[in-house]
Amino acid sequence: MNNNLLYFFKSLQDFKGVGPKFNEGLVRLLGNARVFDLLFHFPTGVIDKTYSPSLFECEVGRVATLKVDVVQHIPVPFVKVKKVPYKIICANDTGNITLNFFQIYDSQKKMLEVGKKICVSGKVEKFGGELCISHPEIYPVEKFDEVCVKEPLYPLTYAITNKMIVNLVKQVLKELPDVQEWQEGATISFKDAIKVLHTDFSNQELREVARQRLVYDEILANQLYLTLLRNTYKTQKGFCVKNSGVYKNLVLKNLGYELTNAQKRVVSEIFADLESDYKMFRLLQGDVGSGKTIVAILALLNVVEVGGQGAFMVPTEILAEQHFKTLTEMVDKSGLSQKIRVVLLTGSDKSLIKKEKLKAIKNGEVDIVVGTHALFQDCVEFKNLMLAVIDEQHKFGVQQRLKLSNKGEHNKVNVLTMTATPIPRTLAMTSFGDMDLSVIDEMPPHRKIVETNLWSMAKIDKIFSLIDMRLSSGQIQKLYWVCPLVEESEKLDLTAVVQRFDDLKKYFGDKVGFIHGKMKQEEKDVVMREFVNPDGKIKVLLATTVIEVGVNVPEATLMIIEHSERFGLSSLHQLRGRIGRGGDKSTCLLLHSDKLTQQARARLNILKNTTDGFKIAEEDLKLRGAGDILGVKQSGQIDFKLADFMEDMDLFLASRRDIQNLMLKDSSLLSERGTNLRNLLFIFGYEKSVFDIYSA
Ligand code: ADP
Ligand code: MG
Repeated sequence: MNNNLLYFFKSLQDFKGVGPKFNEGLVRLLGNARVFDLLFHFPTGVIDKTYSPSLFECEVGRVATLKVDVVQHIPVPFVKVKKVPYKIICANDTGNITLNFFQIYDSQKKMLEVGKKICVSGKVEKFGGELCISHPEIYPVEKFDEVCVKEPLYPLTYAITNKMIVNLVKQVLKELPDVQEWQEGATISFKDAIKVLHTDFSNQELREVARQRLVYDEILANQLYLTLLRNTYKTQKGFCVKNSGVYKNLVLKNLGYELTNAQKRVVSEIFADLESDYKMFRLLQGDVGSGKTIVAILALLNVVEVGGQGAFMVPTEILAEQHFKTLTEMVDKSGLSQKIRVVLLTGSDKSLIKKEKLKAIKNGEVDIVVGTHALFQDCVEFKNLMLAVIDEQHKFGVQQRLKLSNKGEHNKVNVLTMTATPIPRTLAMTSFGDMDLSVIDEMPPHRKIVETNLWSMAKIDKIFSLIDMRLSSGQIQKLYWVCPLVEESEKLDLTAVVQRFDDLKKYFGDKVGFIHGKMKQEEKDVVMREFVNPDGKIKVLLATTVIEVGVNVPEATLMIIEHSERFGLSSLHQLRGRIGRGGDKSTCLLLHSDKLTQQARARLNILKNTTDGFKIAEEDLKLRGAGDILGVKQSGQIDFKLADFMEDMDLFLASRRDIQNLMLKDSSLLSERGTNLRNLLFIFGYEKSVFDIYSA
């Protein structure tokens, strides 16, 4: 490993001026305060400080940088009438200008002593015929050339100023090492591209070349990583699971329904993987309600039949409880309860009970463990883990998938991941390129279609009283009220939802529960439990988009979605999938503002007229970015800093061709370019996987 590269992981605290407070802010801003994180925190705009006019022709409203002499201080009068600033009059050959300070520090007064020559920069205004700048930036006059430039404008956070970032970036760029080129035919180097994006705002063409280069680097690193992962699974021995399918047949006989053709097909794909010598790493994709759970259960039982253990991992406790219940009932009904032992393992297990469960898992007294993130913990040891199923996999990152699959002996654990997000195929390849893909593209028969209607927000009072009536008469037992929020602005918008919570409470009292994304998982679980339980006291669940994925509440037959026009069709479709799960007819009301455009109405009508998640996703993909479709914004799984799935699709495809060629020639990355590509992986933080691969 080239020692130069360690520079990218140097802590920002090692630089001048970064104390604990600043560092804390950097962590908040960048996620991680290392050189790499700062380098890829690019400016989103620029402040032009190059305007340095003579004072008699200075334009009002522009940022100007000036050399002036300090002439006079006019302190705030003792008897204040209005808010009067501390004034400092300055001048040069071309005229006068006043600096206004509504608060002034001694250090500033000192810099601005009468008679001194200084450099000031700020937005010029005019009051009572005199030019002034309020709270200018002040510099020693020698710094004029340094100040009089186009200054990058960075995204900031509380307690971090643009100046702090600008200064730090300057320091960091000064020592930025050269790296060996890993791209073929690049017209600008990695180092220069980074420099250009941070400091050069004059040449738009050059900036675009630099951006493209770095976007490609980011994509290349990600795609190469996925390819290498996939290659290792392909050559890694997996547990070979061969049996006569006794358990499977017993369960199917007692199921009460027949598998759809699509379910049968994916079951045989999965069983073929399990039978092979190589490790399974498969993504099962199927719309909400397409019946993925039974497929997972059959795979788990198959492994148990040959004496192995299975793990069924889900993102929330509620879902874990539900799957546990389904599985236990199925085992009972099939007369297998003597043979198959299932346990539920969650974060809320009391320590004594948890200890016992862990022991049983380790001893092999347990065959299937259903659980949450708790399953990742190092204390969970299996005797003979052969299959890990990960439900709603987009909630988990690649690293977490790896961690679970590494739990078993010799890294041989088969992995089945599942998602309800309908992902168009090309997109699936580029985002989940490390997995094989199975698709359930058919719904179970006789599934109740959810009636979907568009309503104007203006009718909200009518909706309240309608719900009130239906709840009292027992026509409706439970309902969801969704105020979908965009994650980033969640804090901002929460006030509106809290207001809605109050409204609902007025009508429905303590029958209303409320969950949102900023709550802790345990807090959400408390509310969800009261809603999931048919006799629980919560009948109306107000939620932001975080309605727990995969939850099954058959009694819920109504869903109201506010501001539906603001959201992706796929998200709305996913939400709608929460109802229509019982025997009763279900209804989804899409509320929208009264001023709905033709186009927005047409979009929502797609939802009204279609129930096919893939069709909806394709329409959505045409209209919105891929990040929204994958739901990755919420889960942070693919956290590209520059690249964008839709906009940079051609680069994704190019990177795949690039990598395919590379794999033909140098699949172990031993050539010169291969070595340089390892550096790329290292810089982008994928070194762990590369290390795993080459040490295996
Ligand atoms: P998802 O794919 O969203 O996880 P589930 O596995 O929860 O869907 O299945 C949704 C419902 O459909 C469950 O109640 C399940 O029992 C039922 N189901 C699954 N497969 C079939 C089938 N082939 N025929 C009828 N009902 C089915
Ligand atoms: Mg599910």
